Amino acid sequence: ASMNVLVCGGAGYIGSHMVKVLQEHGHNPVVFDNLSTGHAESIPEEMLVRGDLRDISSLRRVFAEHSFDAVMHFAARSIVAESVEKPAEYYENNVAGTLNLLNAMMEEGVRRFVFSSTAAVYGNPLGGDGAAASSARLIDEEHSVAPLNPYGRTKLHVEQALRDFAPAYGLRSVSLRYFNAAGADPSGEIGESHEPETHLIPNILRAALGTGPALHIFGDDYDTPDGTCVRDYIHVNDLADAHLRALGFMQEERGAHVFNLGNGKGFSVREVLAAACEVTGKSIPHEVSPRRSGDAAVLVADSAKARRVLGWQPRYVDLRELMETAWRWHGAQRY
Ligand code: UDP
Repeated sequence: ASMNVLVCGGAGYIGSHMVKVLQEHGHNPVVFDNLSTGHAESIPEEMLVRGDLRDISSLRRVFAEHSFDAVMHFAARSIVAESVEKPAEYYENNVAGTLNLLNAMMEEGVRRFVFSSTAAVYGNPLGGDGAAASSARLIDEEHSVAPLNPYGRTKLHVEQALRDFAPAYGLRSVSLRYFNAAGADPSGEIGESHEPETHLIPNILRAALGTGPALHIFGDDYDTPDGTCVRDYIHVNDLADAHLRALGFMQEERGAHVFNLGNGKGFSVREVLAAACEVTGKSIPHEVSPRRSGDAAVLVADSAKARRVLGWQPRYVDLRELMETAWRWHGAQRY
C-alpha cells in the first residue's frame, strides 16, 4: 500500500536518493529540510517543506498538514572533526532536534521511525587495528558501542532514546548503522555534494577532474595490508532499499531495532584510488599526509542480520561498478 512518508533531511545526499526510491515504489514523500547542507535541486520542488528540527512549531505545522504513516530521519550534522570543535551544534541538531521530531510524532500518533545511524557508534573495533582484524573481524550489532567523537555520541543517544520510547509510547523504530555511504543514482541526476567535502570518493573524483586538490591519503602506516585505512563502501541506493524494507518490517514488528548496513568487504584507500583511476581513465594526483585524528584502521560490517531479517541484498558489491555511478554524477555535477 502507498504510504505518506516524512523524509527529514530529504534534500541531502542519502535523503534525496531515498525520495527517488520512495516515489518509484508508489509512496508519497514529503521532505522537511533546512537546506543547510542539502540541495533544493536534488528533489522535486513541490515536495519540499523548508523547516528546521530545532523549531518545533515548523514541525507541528508539517504534521498538521499531512497524515504521515512513517518518518525517515536523515537530517543531521555529520562531520566528525567539526563535531569535536562545535559539539553544542551537534547536540542541538542531532539530539535536541530529533527529540523535537519524536515529540511531534507522538503528538500526532505517528509511530514508525527509520533512523540514520552510523558505524561510528562502534568506535575502534575490538581486536585492535591489526591486519588480521581486517579479514577476520567483521563488526556485528552485538559489538560494544563506544563512539570516539561527539558525532557518534549524538547518534548513539538517539538510538538509546528510541529504545526507551518503544515500550513507553509504542514507537516502532529501525536504526540503520551505515558504514561508508558511496556512489550515486545511476541516472547521474543526483549525487554526493558536500561543501567542504571530506569524503574519500568525492575527493578522489574532484582530484581526477581537477576541480579539487590532489588527494591527501591520510596515513599509510596503519597496520593494514597496504598501510592505508580499510572501509566498507555501500551504495546509496542499497541504503535506500534497506530503508524501504524497514518500513515493511515495522508493519509487523514492534520495538526498537538496529541493523548494520555494509557490503561486508573492506577496501583500502589505495584500492579505492586504483578503482577510480581505472574507471576514470585518468592518473589522479595524490600524496601521503599524516593520519586524520579519530580514524579507525579497519571498519567492515557484518550485515547478516539485515540480510536475514529484512531480506536485504546489496546490489553494488563491485567497487568499480559503484565508482562508475559516482563518476557519472561527478562528471556532470548539477549542484
Ligand atoms: N580519506 C583520505 N583522504 C580524504 C578523505 C578520506 O585518505 O580526502 C580516508 C579516511 O582517512 C578514511 C577513508 O578515507 O580512512 C574514508 O574516509 P571518509 O571520510 O570517506 O569516511 P569515514 O570512514 O571517515 O566515515
